[in-house]
Amino acid sequence: MIIVMQPDADEKAIEAVEAKILAQGLQVHISRGTERTLIGAVGDERKLDPEMFDPMPGVEKSMHIVKQYKIVAREWHKANTVIDVAGVSIGGKTVQVIAGPCSVETGPQMDVAAAGVKAAGARLMRGGAFKPRTSPYTFQGKGVEGLELLRTAADAHGLPIVTELMDPRMLETFLQYDVDVIQIGTRNMQNFDLLKEVGRTTKPVVLKRGMSATINEWLMAAEYIAAGGNHNIIFCERGIRTFETAYRNVLDVTAVPVLKRETHLPVIVDPSHAGGKAWMVPALSCAAVAAGADGLLIEVHPNPCDAWCDADQALTLAEFATLMEQLGAVARAVGREL
Ligand code: PEP
Ligand code: MN
Repeated sequence: MIIVMQPDADEKAIEAVEAKILAQGLQVHISRGTERTLIGAVGDERKLDPEMFDPMPGVEKSMHIVKQYKIVAREWHKANTVIDVAGVSIGGKTVQVIAGPCSVETGPQMDVAAAGVKAAGARLMRGGAFKPRTSPYTFQGKGVEGLELLRTAADAHGLPIVTELMDPRMLETFLQYDVDVIQIGTRNMQNFDLLKEVGRTTKPVVLKRGMSATINEWLMAAEYIAAGGNHNIIFCERGIRTFETAYRNVLDVTAVPVLKRETHLPVIVDPSHAGGKAWMVPALSCAAVAAGADGLLIEVHPNPCDAWCDADQALTLAEFATLMEQLGAVARAVGREL
């Protein structure tokens, strides 16, 4: 960290900054220029924060010089990390597609969905049992019964499952049902206690981007999970909030190459929650794969008009099958496969 002193900072102010750095166990390097003094804190600066220095007398500003995330950073781990989910590799040459309904509704709905997405080439199945709904009066998910229905339908078709965890108190149950991938939703990206809890497991985690989160905040959220010992993290861009109102969210395609540069961990894209309309999903999916996404998370329902949640953005099974064919060509064009 570098602390820039004000031009008129006196020796007492410089000494106070120096003492604070030493007290944290770091070394001090002072550079006296003609106009200003710069104080460098040398050592593991991640434990320092600009807040510790900015209010001190004589300090103009302070800033980090290294990134605050470490385990998830490509700087420290050059090769791509490939995460194994029950035999399915995420982050390798193959672009993996996770598909299924927004929410688990009934046994037949899940069985038809599982059969359809599997036949079209999806390698994992999604389905929400615990739903984060804007209104407390709308369908909140089937809860544990939903986990059971998802597990049963997906097992019958040999698909690992991805489902959202909202409450750390349900983690044990998720482990009992052997949920293959725990999804942390956009609304919980900075629920640090939840992140710490999943960080204590070895289960792969899909970490969705907070709808108003910066790339740095997202990487720091992943670092929370990684710091607990769980390095099986998959980033999922799902659209961010902007001034635009013509679609549900803006798919930040730029985030894909930026994240691939910043982290060695896999990056997938959810085109369904980004666009919010089924007809937008094919274009956004193609864009994501072309931009280098390692996978897609797509909402598919046997009968979208009757879906209990996010009906407007779900693809039919036929639409999904057509999209998968199109995506194969896009994947091959960028040196990947589907
Ligand atoms: C979902 O995947 O169904 C979901 C609620 O996603 P998000 O957290 O991105 O809104
Ligand atoms: Mn949804």
